[in-house]
Amino acid sequence: MLKYVDYDIVFQEIPDEVSLAINISQCPNRCSGCHSMHLMENIGEDLSTDILYRIIDKYKDSITCVCFMGGDKSQPEIEKLANAVKTNYNLKVGWYSGKEVLPKQLYLFDYVKLGRYIEALGGLDSLNTNQRMYKISANETDDITYRFKKQL
Ligand code: SF4
Repeated sequence: MLKYVDYDIVFQEIPDEVSLAINISQCPNRCSGCHSMHLMENIGEDLSTDILYRIIDKYKDSITCVCFMGGDKSQPEIEKLANAVKTNYNLKVGWYSGKEVLPKQLYLFDYVKLGRYIEALGGLDSLNTNQRMYKISANETDDITYRFKKQL
């Protein structure tokens, strides 16, 4: 089962959304220059759907989006958790992934960030970044990476 380390309410990870960002450990990507090396470790608590509901219920009236930060260790589990949010809450779902391709079950997500972190290219706010943020609606993808550069 995926594990989470902590969570926070954030404003910049997804443009125009107030997101409950849940930081997931056991990251398999091992990017050189990783900004959150502790997330590669096997730490934290199990992120079951019941625990997810408990966390969301605390903040559901003040957020617009639930954003899973990581979880590349098990895409099926991320999709299961995304489906749980979609089924039980009127909230959007985001996923920060280090993968290179969009999930097949695109309808479960409203936002997906793709791409490993490459130190020389920088993160989403870098002009040279390899990473991409997609907004998804009706199974169509819109590359909104430019929104991060405007915030500089
Ligand atoms: S995906 Fe993120 S947490 Fe994982 S190794 Fe890369 S930078 Fe670190």
